[in-house]
Amino acid sequence: MASAAALAPGVVAVFDFDRTIIDWDSDDWVITKLGAADAFQRLRPTMPWNRLMVNAHDTARSSILIRMMAELHAQGKTAEDIRDCLRSAPLDAHVISAIKTAAALGCDLKVVSDANTFFIDTVLDHHGVLGCFSEISTNPAQVDADGRLRISPFHDAASAPHGCSLCPENMCKGKTIEKIQAIAGTKNQHIIYIGDGKGDYCPSLKLGEGDYVMPKENYPLWNLICNNKELLKVEVHPWNNGEELEMTLLKLVNKMIAPPAQVPPFDCSKCDMSKPAPTEVGHHQALRVPH
Ligand SMILES: [Mg+2]
Ligand SMILES: [Zn+2]
Repeated sequence: MASAAALAPGVVAVFDFDRTIIDWDSDDWVITKLGAADAFQRLRPTMPWNRLMVNAHDTARSSILIRMMAELHAQGKTAEDIRDCLRSAPLDAHVISAIKTAAALGCDLKVVSDANTFFIDTVLDHHGVLGCFSEISTNPAQVDADGRLRISPFHDAASAPHGCSLCPENMCKGKTIEKIQAIAGTKNQHIIYIGDGKGDYCPSLKLGEGDYVMPKENYPLWNLICNNKELLKVEVHPWNNGEELEMTLLKLVNKMIAPPAQVPPFDCSKCDMSKPAPTEVGHHQALRVPH
């Protein structure tokens, strides 16, 4: 990774997780596959389930998930059952390829998600791409001594509210993007942000000149962008499926890491084997060998 990064230090690719890296919602998958739908029905009178199912980034989503993990535990389901369940879920081969190729090209890859560390680590590790990411910002999760998965909010709304009115109280992805930007700015890096949900709109608004946003077409982020085009400062490159995500991301990465115009590519037609000395100089200039 270190040598690849030295060749192409210019791109930070930031991925949402649910319905972006994976083509499903990780908590819906776990709750449905582990047979907790009955618990949904029982709790429905006290919680906004209909909003949970419709909106991938509803304010109440993480607190509902925290309750659901307790419910699964009460039903005898352990964190290991949840891990097995997540491992049985698919991950598009094009998305795996996009992640591996972008990492090999020297991109710094990060996840910013309102899922949780347990779900994300399990899925990415199972498909062999966890090591491609330098940072995963999401709700922390731990397995306690009883084998119960305990998820906590990324931001504690009571002790340290993030103060962003666009985002759910447990997580403002825009705050995370600001931290990434502060470091990227010192390294001449630009950001590609890839997401689908309402929670991905705030970070998209933070992006600046030279950055890109890749919204999933016809999902909430895409709709918000289309309805407020003048608010965005960056180029928008939509995608529909894993294949388009891969194609679009790698096209942008290749454009961003292309060598600057003032450095001419090595031109073999100028090689003259009868005059070895000038050829060698030409090589050194084109490849920018450090002295
Ligand atoms: Mg999402
Ligand atoms: Zn926000």
